[in-house]
Amino acid sequence: MSESIFCNYINGEWVEGASSLANISPADTSDVIGHYAQANQEQAESALDAATKGQLEWQESGLEQRYSVLMAIGDELIARKDELGKLLAREEGKTLPEGAGEIYRSGQFFHYYAAEVLRQMGETADSVRPGIEIETRREPVGVVGIITPWNFPTATAAWKIAPALAFGNAVVLKPANQVPASAWALTEIISRQGLPAGTFNLVMGPGAEVGDLLINSKKINALTFTGSLETGRKVAIATAANLVKCQLEMGSKNALIVLDDADLDNAVECAVGGAFFGTGQKCTASSRLIVTEGIHDRFVDAVVARMKQLVVGHPLREGVHIGAVADARQMKQNLNYLEIAKNEGGKLVSGGDVITEETEGYYLTPALFTETTNAMTINREEAFAPIACVIKVKDYDEALATLNDTNYGLVGGICTQSLKAATHFKRNAQTGCAMVNLPTAGTDYHVPFGGRKDSSFGSREMGSYAKEFYTIVKTTYIRS
Ligand code: NAD
Repeated sequence: MSESIFCNYINGEWVEGASSLANISPADTSDVIGHYAQANQEQAESALDAATKGQLEWQESGLEQRYSVLMAIGDELIARKDELGKLLAREEGKTLPEGAGEIYRSGQFFHYYAAEVLRQMGETADSVRPGIEIETRREPVGVVGIITPWNFPTATAAWKIAPALAFGNAVVLKPANQVPASAWALTEIISRQGLPAGTFNLVMGPGAEVGDLLINSKKINALTFTGSLETGRKVAIATAANLVKCQLEMGSKNALIVLDDADLDNAVECAVGGAFFGTGQKCTASSRLIVTEGIHDRFVDAVVARMKQLVVGHPLREGVHIGAVADARQMKQNLNYLEIAKNEGGKLVSGGDVITEETEGYYLTPALFTETTNAMTINREEAFAPIACVIKVKDYDEALATLNDTNYGLVGGICTQSLKAATHFKRNAQTGCAMVNLPTAGTDYHVPFGGRKDSSFGSREMGSYAKEFYTIVKTTYIRS
């Protein structure tokens, strides 16, 4: 392996790319994290060929080998959470505790799927024809292409790689080019687990080139993607053309409802945590705060007071709550949405300031708008920014209708002390996840995750539900 370039990993070997990309920290643009290989077409093809061969060997591996490999990866991630969390914070801009937390959670995904390896049970049935028995069992789907976004580069990769390997598949991972270091570090751990060559491959490079090649390849049996709606549509169209199974997790425009009877302190924590932590760069962020009239003014005052306590700054500095915006492009987008919100009549009551740190980076204070309507662009499009907008409504019925009036449907939340409202909400929110008296952001690792409408496509990720995507059911008839 070259000393200065972090290589791709293809067929069990570290391979230099056709070119390389400098990975610059958004928190300090003088901090070059490393130079990362960029795969060319030939290398991506060779990764797919290697995966095809490696998968046949890996599916024959014993269950205990798969269990041990996944446990070992999980153990190492958890043991190195601070070190790898720091790397993640440097390259993505999230705070050190958020980075370490993501690495820890990634380890938990591997541990969960290690156990899932041992739970692969089939079913038996008697045939309608006497003397014949039937069994159904799950087999690996084959070669899985994994395309991940920049905002949770380790966790997203982990919740896809772990079930892929657990169920006997081979993987070709293409991470977002803004965050290759996190994917490379995870690959380095996987490379030491004695997997058959080609079982796991890393091809770094631009989405429009390396990603495009993967989604159009007939060598892939299943493609799992997390990213924007725009790219997700391309993935769906390309994979459908080849009849390749696909699973998409995309953007959202999540809302938190706050009713008059809500516990105010808790509602404020839910709103602030859900909207601004992770610099608002979460698919689960609650960018719409739908608040009933009776609590509106008290809620806004309390949120603004809480926002003033939040420290924005270098992600590695102690005491910082909100780190850097991920890159210059995202910063430009955030500033653009701030302008759009103002121009459409939103009232900026707090934040939205570009600030400077000792290091040159992309820093924006969290912004709160009031007097917005659900029809405004800022409440229709995903900004992926630390920007939240309050929409005042008359009552619960209007709040629910407003929450559901969106093309997206990942997470919805409600703060209320009414069992009746909470029960109605959890059954009628048109979202894949519903939160009661909790922030919209923050989900567990052992249960399904996903959305409705334009937020998701295909079968659910995570928990035992992941097997729908990573396996194929075989029905066998036996005459004894
Ligand atoms: P993106 O769509 O720009 O990129 C995602 C991935 O797709 C990257 O690896 C990128 O290189 C690749 N890509 C880009 N163009 C491609 C193409 N033509 N063919 C194949 N691959 C291509 O998204 P992003 O900016 O990295 O991530 C932010 C988005 O991800 C937001 O919309 C966010 O809501 C979403 N997200 C969703 C979830 C979820 O679980 N629903 C989780 C995290 C992020």
